[in-house]
Amino acid sequence: MQHEFACKHQWLLKASFALCLLCIVSVLALSSGSRHDYDDIIESGVLKIVTRNSPTTYYQDKDQISGFEYELASMFADFLGVKLDVTVADNLDDLIAEVETGNVAFAAAGLTVTPERAERVLFSSSYLNVTQKLVYRISQKRPKDLSALINKTMVVTAHSSHAQYLHDLQQNTMPELTWIEREDAEVSELVQMVENGEIDFTIVDSNEFEALAGFYPNVAGALDLGDAQELAWAFSQYTDNSLVNKSREFFQLIRETGLLSQLEERYYGHLRQIDNVGTLTFLAQADKRLHKYQELFEQEAITNDVDWRLLAAIGYQESHWKELARSRTGVRGLMMLTRTTAKEMGVKNRLNAEQSIKGGSAYFAKLKRRFKNIAEPDRTWIALAAYNVGYGHVKDAQLLTKEHGGNPDRWMDIKESLPLLTQKKFYKKTKHGYARGYEPVEYVQNIRRFYDLLVWREQPDPTYTVVDANDESFFTADSGYRNIPPLVVTH
Ligand code: GLU
Repeated sequence: MQHEFACKHQWLLKASFALCLLCIVSVLALSSGSRHDYDDIIESGVLKIVTRNSPTTYYQDKDQISGFEYELASMFADFLGVKLDVTVADNLDDLIAEVETGNVAFAAAGLTVTPERAERVLFSSSYLNVTQKLVYRISQKRPKDLSALINKTMVVTAHSSHAQYLHDLQQNTMPELTWIEREDAEVSELVQMVENGEIDFTIVDSNEFEALAGFYPNVAGALDLGDAQELAWAFSQYTDNSLVNKSREFFQLIRETGLLSQLEERYYGHLRQIDNVGTLTFLAQADKRLHKYQELFEQEAITNDVDWRLLAAIGYQESHWKELARSRTGVRGLMMLTRTTAKEMGVKNRLNAEQSIKGGSAYFAKLKRRFKNIAEPDRTWIALAAYNVGYGHVKDAQLLTKEHGGNPDRWMDIKESLPLLTQKKFYKKTKHGYARGYEPVEYVQNIRRFYDLLVWREQPDPTYTVVDANDESFFTADSGYRNIPPLVVTH
């Protein structure tokens, strides 16, 4: 009897404790959350949001902040006439918690609207529809249905809609299904693991897949999992709805004016392929287009004390020597300058070839000066990587190289560290965060190849044949050619 009473008593105690806790949390949330109502934001002049550091949300690109979510939130801040203040959460659960506790006005992080999340936060209207894609390595058999997932290694991000999908699947139809959830990884790393053959499958949203696929040629989407889903911003439930109502107005406006489709097109409209144009194409283009710009490259080479063929090789890698080139992230012109770089180098019109070559060459020379303690040729390759991915990220990669026992002044070592900047466990500790670290490696390799080809092209009486890289005789000293490996990059 006494025991029963004690149990009941304990139960009562526990219940009242839980109730108190709930009250405290609600009051806290209510009091801090109210700071993010529309009037408070206008009064403070600051819109505070939380996001994730990933290629589809928010990241440092060359010398500017990029990301679909970041740009969308910036547009909203402009619409409200206030400043945007961005914080980054480590994982999806922390992100939702930031919203719940009222630390931020909302989360803009490529969040899928799920019934489970809708119990914790208030979603805005949706701005993008996505499907979940099962990603596999193309050298493996293409999975045709869900049974292919059994007894395979599948990894997804922890607390994601993808993990939720698998939980539901396991509970409802496939109790034997297993998978791993990673707290410390984001989708690009998981896609990389599939590419490398470390795991069999991962799941990513279709927009993420579009942004990533160009960088991982050995993976493809096998199946769409489940129905289409909506991405939306997540607001706290403890607000007066004034801000979420404003966001509805904003989404309606950007839909009607076409601004939203423009943003989608820029980020997800086309797969971005790494430029891997072959030797013959390069030489054909050199014959056709280079003469138009050669003098400009030569002039700038003298001004900046750089080999003109290197500048020309940058120009080709950047734009294929097209002065009107544009990319989806807003870089423009023959040397593909960002707006910030153009301003810094005094370029008024980025689409003017002369200005672009002048600005680009001077910018490259400036980057080289910033690495003045490094011996050639590494200094050139490292400055080139900075031209592509931004000085800050290269500095981060140098620090990582040092930490891993490599030589931070050697391109061969930095080249191993740069791709680590796509992995959360590494970029988390860096100053500039996530970077598409594979890109500068590919970029430098291409430029070196183009440079070698231009040097080769100037040899007396060159023969424009495709070289069989396995043909040793081609590289012997008495063949009359420099030791140029046109088809294979050996560095
Ligand atoms: N849309 C996914 C979600 O809301 C993103 C997950 C991820 O990229 O890891 O969970």
